Amino acid sequence: MLSRTRLALFLSICALPALAQQAPQYDFLLQGGHVIDAKNNLSAIRDVAIRDGKIAAVAPKIDPARALKTVNLNGLYVTPGILDIHFHSYTGTGEKNSYAGDLSILPDGFTFRTGVTTVADAGCSGWRNFEDFKQRVIDRSKTRILVFLNIVGNGMRQGKFESDLTDMEVKPATEMALKYKDLIIGVKSAHYPGPEWTPVENAIAVATAANIPVMVDFGSNRPERPLEQLLGTKLRPGDIYTHCFSGLRNELGTNGKLNPALEQGRKRGIYFDVGQGGGSLAYPVAMEAMKEKFLPDSISTDLHTASMNSGTKDMLNLMSEFLAMGLTVDEVIARATWNPAREIHQESLGNLSVGAPADIAVLNLRDGKFGFADMYGARLSGTKRFECELTLRNGKVVYDLNALARPAWETLPKEYRRQGDPRWDAISPGRGPGRATTPRVP
Ligand SMILES: [Zn+2]
Repeated sequence: MLSRTRLALFLSICALPALAQQAPQYDFLLQGGHVIDAKNNLSAIRDVAIRDGKIAAVAPKIDPARALKTVNLNGLYVTPGILDIHFHSYTGTGEKNSYAGDLSILPDGFTFRTGVTTVADAGCSGWRNFEDFKQRVIDRSKTRILVFLNIVGNGMRQGKFESDLTDMEVKPATEMALKYKDLIIGVKSAHYPGPEWTPVENAIAVATAANIPVMVDFGSNRPERPLEQLLGTKLRPGDIYTHCFSGLRNELGTNGKLNPALEQGRKRGIYFDVGQGGGSLAYPVAMEAMKEKFLPDSISTDLHTASMNSGTKDMLNLMSEFLAMGLTVDEVIARATWNPAREIHQESLGNLSVGAPADIAVLNLRDGKFGFADMYGARLSGTKRFECELTLRNGKVVYDLNALARPAWETLPKEYRRQGDPRWDAISPGRGPGRATTPRVP
């Protein structure tokens, strides 16, 4: 006869496998979508499982019984959370006509609804005001905000500030970059109207000391500092030339062909970024580049108050625009995910490797009659447009256009309250009655 203790032990051992079967191993399962993960050379139908905010498995079939929540994504693309590495977000200071003020925008209103989970602020702040930017915007945003520190100590406050060669100090900028290594991922030189190389040279000095890239907006076109010299000798491999298809700085030669300096720069390892913004992409330049197979390394918006409702609009609009210029879906996704992640040395982002943060975009590719506009207001017709269905940030749903992750209301008890579960839901995480309570195997 079994003792009471041994009987209890026997019963609990018998019950273990049953419990294990019932209790889900994953928090969230994205089922049946077309996964595009450029880092892992993957473009195929796959299931993606998430646990504790990280990618836990990517496989042709994952049993939905192992997941707390499953969403079927047949016919949709599943990509790493999109990175927009040219963004302006230092708002809230009250300063007029300033990118450290009214010209900037809060990212959360523009990002998740377009599948973007990470932005890099492109030089709104310098070493004098980075910490104000951090406490005012970065620390309070749900979007991951990384920063190109402006070589100008006062940041992007226009006019006399950005022309002041005495406020481009290497030492304090380097100290700030090293103090906030996790946030400051690059140095920006921008908008300089004068003939000197000082802004570029000092930005490179800071970036070299901090082992991060420089992003250059080459400012006014000056014969004293030609594009050929910037791309041929000044910039280091891994530095980033933004606004690459503006045509404002001799990117297109008088013969209608691309300036050979671009291809030479690429051979040296310089990255070419779109940054379409309010006035930085012209179709005659971009279309010639496509013709010569000079594709951008990264697509980015240069989003701010003057570009948010222009031809730029948002990342998905620009990604659709590049489809209209002839890039494939896989080429476009790579240039909005893995490529920009590599450019800013954030190799944990922009991919769906097991263990990576579960930042994910689920995209619909619509067919129809669409159109896009360049910096001069000329139109380009297209037949495809990306639309964001679902965005996850650190494994949690932060945007759900068509309520894909939601139960049909008529299937719920009459007196239903908050749905969702905090393990996968950051929109209505079920803190009231009706919260799912299924345990998960540790
Ligand atoms: Zn910009």
